[in-house]
Amino acid sequence: MKTTASLDEAMTGRVFTPGDEDYDRVRRVWNGTIDITPAVIARCRDTEDVVRAVEFALDHNLDVSIRGGGHNVAGTALVEDGLVIDLTEMREVEIDADRRVARVQGGATLADVDGATFEYGLVTPSGFISDTGIAGLALKGGMGHTMRRFGLTCDNIVAVRLVTSDGEVRRVTEDDTDLMWALRGGPLDLGVVTEFEFRLHPIESEVRLILSAFPAEEGVEMNRFLTELMDDAPRELGLVSFYASFPDDDDLPREIRDREAIVLFGMYSGDRDGEVVASIVEHPHSLADMGGWMSYPEAQSVLDEEYPDGMRYYWKSLYLDDVDDEVLQIIDRYGRDRPSPETTLDLWTMGGAVEDFGADKSAFAGRNASYMVAIEANWVDADDDEGCIRWAREVFDALRPYSRGGIYMNFPGSREERNDAIDQLDDPVLERLRTVRDGIDPHRLFTPA
Ligand SMILES: Cc1cc2nc3c(=O)[nH]c(=O)nc-3n(C[C@H](O)[C@H](O)[C@H](O)COP(=O)(O)OP(=O)(O)OC[C@H]3O[C@@H](n4cnc5c(N)ncnc54)[C@H](O)[C@@H]3O)c2cc1C
Repeated sequence: MKTTASLDEAMTGRVFTPGDEDYDRVRRVWNGTIDITPAVIARCRDTEDVVRAVEFALDHNLDVSIRGGGHNVAGTALVEDGLVIDLTEMREVEIDADRRVARVQGGATLADVDGATFEYGLVTPSGFISDTGIAGLALKGGMGHTMRRFGLTCDNIVAVRLVTSDGEVRRVTEDDTDLMWALRGGPLDLGVVTEFEFRLHPIESEVRLILSAFPAEEGVEMNRFLTELMDDAPRELGLVSFYASFPDDDDLPREIRDREAIVLFGMYSGDRDGEVVASIVEHPHSLADMGGWMSYPEAQSVLDEEYPDGMRYYWKSLYLDDVDDEVLQIIDRYGRDRPSPETTLDLWTMGGAVEDFGADKSAFAGRNASYMVAIEANWVDADDDEGCIRWAREVFDALRPYSRGGIYMNFPGSREERNDAIDQLDDPVLERLRTVRDGIDPHRLFTPA
């Protein structure tokens, strides 16, 4: 391979290769189980740098990965022996309040976006943890507190600046019907998005964060309460449940210290008189209400500390149309028998604006599902790798017979499991995706398969 010095000279950003002092720090991603050693990490500062990196990869026949926020649980931001196009330093956000559009660089985090948009009383929907990258989240879907009101993050992409494998810079808009369809939640990488334009929506100055704990023994009943409530809840309410362990921590309400619980977690962005909030936080089984009215960015980041960089993670997912007693019992059994205190078992409710968005406008596969189960094995010690991963796979296998098929590509399990899930997509969808891919990435630089 020609020396990377030529790439380093051509870029304003920096190039890292094995042996460089900072290489090991720069190749680290959020998930501590990921240990991938790329040949080159091109830390780009602007779109031109990305073009140079793409050209270099093609000239030298290198496999490529794209790093936005580095939070993909399967570590897809990195590629063994290949070239990482790293956008970590491209985090600017500009607001066009008149057009209600945010222009967001491809390495921005959810916090970068929320902080900038909220200054104008506007938001675009995104996920629960604010240091997640917006790029990976948006391109594969984007589920969060306000999705039932404003749609998935991908539904709110109105345009992107895309660097293609030919090194061209294209502005893709909603007029590029097929390409925009594939970019909105499709599983294939089609190029490097250096800038998104997201649609913005007005939001109230304060929203009600819901973070209420109930005894784990009431798990089945509370999940039934959740699903019945969400059947006809206002779209301003987003709500999920998860089984969790609370530590013996003086900062926590006494009622939940050192206790197994099921938590209802969500956001209500309606008016303060909404009775629906009271029905949750004043539920007779409630142990503690740790939520309250607060600004949207605050509510978006309350659980950030629960997901530290470098801890060990393995997350899977599946979609359900219906949650009957059998399903609730399975969730309860595994929810109360988790392999580590950090692990959670989550039931997400969907619907509302997610369902309304036209399937022909987005390749997101789980759009019409009513629920998603997120199986989050989280742990500290490498010795627990096997047991935690086994538990997650067992939950997945136990629920699979009840699932409508498909997984959420942002909670894919391992890289191999993600690739298998892509192969199992409906034929017409896969065929359309591959046709788009062959048009925009004839070199198969971004998605080899
Ligand atoms: C703590 C935590 C909480 C989460 N919560 C939620 C949640 O509430 N809702 C939800 O929907 N998801 C959630 N996720 C999942 C999240 O959406 C994915 O992990 C997503 O991949 C993160 O994006 P990233 O840019 O940080 O990832 P990266 O690892 O940087 O990238 C992942 C993949 O995205 C693509 N990609 C990234 N950047 C670009 C780009 N600029 N151009 C083109 N392709 C790109 C590439 O395929 C890349 O392999 C959460 C993840 C974590 C770690």
